[in-house]
Amino acid sequence: MKIETKFNVGDDVYVCKNNGTHGKEPCKICEGTGVISIKDETFCCPKCHGNKFTNTKRINRFIPEKRTIRKVIVSVSENNGNMQMYTRYETKTHGNRDRSVADYRNIMFTTKEEAVYRCKELNGEIVKLPNAMIVKDFAEKIELKPAEIIKWLFLRGKVKQLDSEIGFDDMKEFADGYGFICEKETEE
Ligand SMILES: [Zn+2]
Repeated sequence: MKIETKFNVGDDVYVCKNNGTHGKEPCKICEGTGVISIKDETFCCPKCHGNKFTNTKRINRFIPEKRTIRKVIVSVSENNGNMQMYTRYETKTHGNRDRSVADYRNIMFTTKEEAVYRCKELNGEIVKLPNAMIVKDFAEKIELKPAEIIKWLFLRGKVKQLDSEIGFDDMKEFADGYGFICEKETEE
C-alpha cells in the first residue's frame, strides 16, 4: 500500500503559528474592584478572588513560522465502511521544539506567501467587500473608527461623511494600510 501525503520528511514548510495572548476583562461581579460589599462588610470577590480581572479570552494572532518536517504519521480509521485517512506531521522549529500539526487544520504550506495569506484569514484580516459601501458600514466591518476613514479620504481630496459612499478601490487602499487583504465579494 502506497500512501501519498502532502508533505514528506525533510520538507521545509511554513506553519501558521498562533502567537496569541490572553486578554483580560474586568470582573463583572465586583465591577473590577476585587471586593464586594454586603451591608457594611467588605469581602474579597468570590469570582476573581480579588484579582479584579477574569474571563481571559484568547486573542488569536497567527504568524508564519518556518519548520522542517521530521516525521509523518498516517492513521486510518473506518467510519460506516468508509476508510478515512488522517495525517499528522511532527515538525522541528528553529528553537528546536517539536510540534505536531494535523493536516486537516490546513495551517502548513510550502511557501511563505501561502502561510501569510492563511494567517491573515485566521486572524480575520481578509475582508470581502462589495463595489461600494457606506463609510459607517465599512468602518464597522473592519472595526475601525469612521473618523479615521473620513480623515484619510479628506487627505486625498475627497470630502465624505458617515453616510457617504466609498468605492472598492479606496476601501482596499485604506485597509491595506492596516494589514488587511481586501477581496471583491463575488456575486452569487
Ligand atoms: Zn471580582
